[in-house]
Amino acid sequence: MGGQGSGSWYRWNSKTTTESQHGIDIRWLKKHGYFRSGTIGSLSWSCRGEQTGSIRYRIEADRMILDYRHRPHGGEWEEVEQKISLSRTPCNYGGHRTWFHCPRCCKRVEVLYGAGKYFLCRHCYRLTYESQQEKTPSRLLIKVQKIRKRLGGSAATGDLFPQKPKGMHWKTYIGLRNEAEQAERLAWAMVGQGFENFR
Ligand SMILES: [Zn+2]
Repeated sequence: MGGQGSGSWYRWNSKTTTESQHGIDIRWLKKHGYFRSGTIGSLSWSCRGEQTGSIRYRIEADRMILDYRHRPHGGEWEEVEQKISLSRTPCNYGGHRTWFHCPRCCKRVEVLYGAGKYFLCRHCYRLTYESQQEKTPSRLLIKVQKIRKRLGGSAATGDLFPQKPKGMHWKTYIGLRNEAEQAERLAWAMVGQGFENFR
């Protein structure tokens, strides 16, 4: 009945080597016969022989349902059920190709990655991963406030940016101002994309 897959360790970005990147590859599932409609199975990932995560899944006609437990950083375990839509496109040489639709951006993809609570496409994974690392809007804004205070100005981002303090080199001042501007821009862009609520 079910497909038991294991030991798939995906590296799609050599920059992120320490985090476990739990991926679900539709081609891999198909190749091993785990992707037939009606299949109920489980997938697990491991790193150097140690299991780093597992999920249960079932395949229906037009969706894949994932069932797993997620634990937010320092939080309680919670049960997650994620429904992923599937679609098919015909191949040039007969048969068809099956795609996931990323639950966040709806893009058609063949691999989804476990990012925080949900499985998402590579693009959304990267954004979420980075935001969880350090770049949450609130952390970015704290950084901006620190720079403003360091320059002897008001911490409020709505106020005018502080002038260069006496005795500070222009190069230092301009560097800090650029850093603050970039962080602030990124923070608001992320808020616009609903990042703060996305866990
Ligand atoms: Zn996506």
